[in-house]
Amino acid sequence: MIYTSTRDKSLKVTSAEAITRGISAEGGLFVPCEIPQVSLDFIASMKDMTYIERAKKVLALYLTDFSEDEISAFVEGAYKEGKFSSAEVAPVVNLHDNVNILELWHGPTCAFKDMALQLLPHLLIGSSKKTLKDKEIVILVATSGDTGKAALEGFKDVDSTKILVFYPEDGVSPMQKRQMCTQEGNNVGVCAINGNFDDAQSGVKAIFTDDEIKKVFAENNLVFSSANSINWGRLVPQIVYYFSAYCDMLKQGKIELGDKINVVVPTGNFGNILAANYAMKMGLPLEKLICASNANNVLTDFIKTGKYDKNRDFYATISPSMDILISSNLERLMFMLHDEDDGAVNALYASLKENGTFEISADVLAKINEVYSAGCCSDEETKQTIHDVYEKYNYLSDTHTAVAIKVCEDYRNETGDMTPVVIASTASPYKFGASVLSALTGKADGDEFEMVKELEELTKVSAPAQLSGLKDKEVRFTNVCDKDSDSMRKVVFNMLGIG
Ligand SMILES: *Cc1c(COP(=O)(O)O)cnc(C)c1O
Repeated sequence: MIYTSTRDKSLKVTSAEAITRGISAEGGLFVPCEIPQVSLDFIASMKDMTYIERAKKVLALYLTDFSEDEISAFVEGAYKEGKFSSAEVAPVVNLHDNVNILELWHGPTCAFKDMALQLLPHLLIGSSKKTLKDKEIVILVATSGDTGKAALEGFKDVDSTKILVFYPEDGVSPMQKRQMCTQEGNNVGVCAINGNFDDAQSGVKAIFTDDEIKKVFAENNLVFSSANSINWGRLVPQIVYYFSAYCDMLKQGKIELGDKINVVVPTGNFGNILAANYAMKMGLPLEKLICASNANNVLTDFIKTGKYDKNRDFYATISPSMDILISSNLERLMFMLHDEDDGAVNALYASLKENGTFEISADVLAKINEVYSAGCCSDEETKQTIHDVYEKYNYLSDTHTAVAIKVCEDYRNETGDMTPVVIASTASPYKFGASVLSALTGKADGDEFEMVKELEELTKVSAPAQLSGLKDKEVRFTNVCDKDSDSMRKVVFNMLGIG
């Protein structure tokens, strides 16, 4: 299988190259030139398989420059027993009637980012052996909370890699901060910046493209890579769990082979929902993909009107991992829906850069609406949903998942479409304990760990040990730097002991 770039169709690279490069030099994202097709028999054959076995089958279709043995080793390393608190890795639980929850947060950091970031280090090391030979890889991450911790945990003590994470000092939850600042491992670094997530992201991007730094890196046999969701190695592992969810529903007798289901995804950078779109194009029977947003509803408006407009107020919500105005992976969908016309994609993204907006044609909008539906909800509605879902169904959901549950309800009420549905659940409720507790009881004060205890006593759902255990862990990182790229560059050089 060959990959190309959304902004330069003449490029042809292998999956190993796409993964080591992360982003294409001209700024485009790597996409497969063809989408592999599967039959219903292929899906049926996975029904009684474990998650690991299902992952091997699906990934092999995309990572054709790797041998079966290589893929097996990667997948087993990522999802082996003990890494995920559920033996099923990504279990499907029934909420009510034909509404189901796909729990993607049983990994080491309690957010769905683990599904990809436990596998990415294996993919990246495997890829770099093919493409970079003996260079050391430096992973730089800008995070609004979940990606940073999941990347640190994935790459800690992985040979030939170093990882450095920048997070906004006042833009992450106390639990997320604690998770990152207590990170173990001999190749890890964490630094807060005086700025918001966008500042962290632009700082990191500036470092990636800085010629001076590139020179110093070359002299020291180092090379940068990215663990953000623009990397194909982040996206491809996410296709697997949509197949897995469908197989689980078959197994549980909720659907018959070939029946269509809908999927609802709480969306930020558009990676998770795009993975569902790839699964659908491969032949998985999905009917509608429902994109759920919080008050930062740039995608809701886009899917309804065809106009993408990031010139709007930015809200800090109680579902912070979706507080984002530029959804990077949307570019891959634009490429797909413009019949792989790289010129059209370049024009859209030039307009976004220049004016903060772009608009697609009525034809392309019609294609989007064949597949996608969208909705959004406020913090108030999110809390009400956490409360009601707990009262009615005795199910405790985090803030991001609650956004999706609410948008799912609205969709069903508005359209009358009662197709069986899978809602992607992206974080453990204990990761956003203060908001969840206040949704249930109307108040939440005290420190993060007292709130965890209170939530446990109230709901009898025990908190993941990785979170409650943080209380007694040593804080290793307290660094804060300014948001200009000189300051951030110094942090990078210090950590690497160069420059
Ligand atoms: C990252 C994240 C999201 C958004 O996922 P995208 O793939 O960026 O759309 C939603 N919920 C949680 C908890 C996350 O960490």
